[in-house]
Amino acid sequence: MPHHTPLVATIVAGLVVAFIFGALAHRMRISPIAGYLLAGVAVGPFTPGFVAHSGLANELAEIGVILLMFGVGLHFSLRDLLSVKKIAVPGAIGQIAAATLMGMGLGWLFGWTPVAGFVFGLALSVASTVVLLRAMQSLDLVDTERGRIAVGWLIVEDLVMVLALVLLPVLARSTSGEGASGTTEIAMALGGTLLKVGGFLALILIVGRRFIPSTLHWVAHSGSRELFRLAVLAIALGVAFGAAVVFGVSFALGAFFAGMILGETELSRRATEETLPLRDAFAVLFFVSVGMLFNPSIVVEQPLGVLATVGIIVVGKSIAAYAIVRAFGHSSHKAITIAASLAQIGEFSFILITLGANLEILPADARDMVLAGAMISIFLNPIIFSFVPRREAEDAEPEAETEQKPARKGHWILVGYGRVGRQLASDISEKARSFVIIEGEKDMAERARKSGYEVVTGNAVEQKTLRAAGADHASVILIAIPEGFEAGAVLEQARAICPNIRVIARSHSDAEYEHLEKLGADCVISGEREIARRMAELCVG
Ligand code: AMP
Repeated sequence: MPHHTPLVATIVAGLVVAFIFGALAHRMRISPIAGYLLAGVAVGPFTPGFVAHSGLANELAEIGVILLMFGVGLHFSLRDLLSVKKIAVPGAIGQIAAATLMGMGLGWLFGWTPVAGFVFGLALSVASTVVLLRAMQSLDLVDTERGRIAVGWLIVEDLVMVLALVLLPVLARSTSGEGASGTTEIAMALGGTLLKVGGFLALILIVGRRFIPSTLHWVAHSGSRELFRLAVLAIALGVAFGAAVVFGVSFALGAFFAGMILGETELSRRATEETLPLRDAFAVLFFVSVGMLFNPSIVVEQPLGVLATVGIIVVGKSIAAYAIVRAFGHSSHKAITIAASLAQIGEFSFILITLGANLEILPADARDMVLAGAMISIFLNPIIFSFVPRREAEDAEPEAETEQKPARKGHWILVGYGRVGRQLASDISEKARSFVIIEGEKDMAERARKSGYEVVTGNAVEQKTLRAAGADHASVILIAIPEGFEAGAVLEQARAICPNIRVIARSHSDAEYEHLEKLGADCVISGEREIARRMAELCVG
């Protein structure tokens, strides 16, 4: 190499090795997350060969956390957040208390000081945002009630950790005997932090809410896609960073609120799409950076300690969460989802133990056990999550459940109510055709419903959605979604239910066109070809 480029080397090695291990994991039908973690171990300092820069990898991972939380914020409204506060606040606090006590108990067995046990327990009590969201997204649960409770719970945990990070140095000082007036100092630090968090919330909800959406609107109207992408990134990263530097709030919380403000505007969908590819790439780097911290020798040196740590994270915390959710009168369905999604630890735990080690209140063994616990619990999480009930009737929005389903026969199904679907709906309704719309996005479905159409909210790739739209008795399905290969999957599912259904699909490339024709679509309309044909017709006459 001509010169020293640790940042480039870390990004490249992280992504390339993660890709190789992720692909292998996929082949072996295990979660790609396991592959990314092992990729981290491979490029980490404890295995031979290339060693990536772990400090840089951690910073890159932070960007992943920011973009993920921003994405969640986009789908979350203030109303959603407040609607789960009754369970999320006591739930998170109760679970943190339970996990901390268990951690202190283990620390006592190992002969650590009570403060060391406290920090250790606290580190075991807080779940990783990235792991939770990845798991929720894989089952499409983010916008269900159990998803909202889990995310609300996570936000409360984040807030508690923000407080803990501020109080830890004060605690360390007062226990080392340097600060005589321990309690007043703690009270002052606590008050100061609450004031700062309050200041941040007030600023973002009052000032940010007014200026951020209007800035984005203005940029969108400038017509430059590049500038729009830049604006979205600048807002997500800028607010998160500003929140951390000025108000001492975590990156994750700052990004969440920036997203939430944007989510209230029409532009949020576009903003989500624009941040998706970057978000995925950086989320991968997060897992690689966790893997890098892992020193496999701890498993041999302290097998019982590691086992007990994993036990607290996976079993102890789950039992506590399950019991709390059930005590609040929720179904076991929800309780299992919440328990499983929080049965792991991640980024906040690393920050806490690093701080604890710097303050010299945490023994090295405790730190290594937390790291091993994180790695193993993240590894186990996809397996634990396979026990979580899939999305089903209980998760449906009330309107979908009360929806009238008149017996239909020979009707049409229109998939997608976007730019093409909207026009199509208005054209065919003029001809008084009976049809049902299937739309995946809640806000779009609501819009269609308001226009007086019959709508099923859901993914048309799933048979149950197609059945809800009466596919077994439909005569035609118009697939007006922009993804030609996804349209192919819809076609296959529809034909599996109703072999004779006439399929008219939309494509945007030759490859999609051929794919749909091969699958037996009756008619494939290529957007670009149609536009060209019509333009030629207009000038040739
Ligand atoms: P447009 O590209 O503007 O015509 O928008 C396409 C619309 O189709 C969007 O509103 C999407 O939410 C919707 N859509 C895309 N894929 C699916 C799917 N698999 N099931 C249901 N709706 C979908």
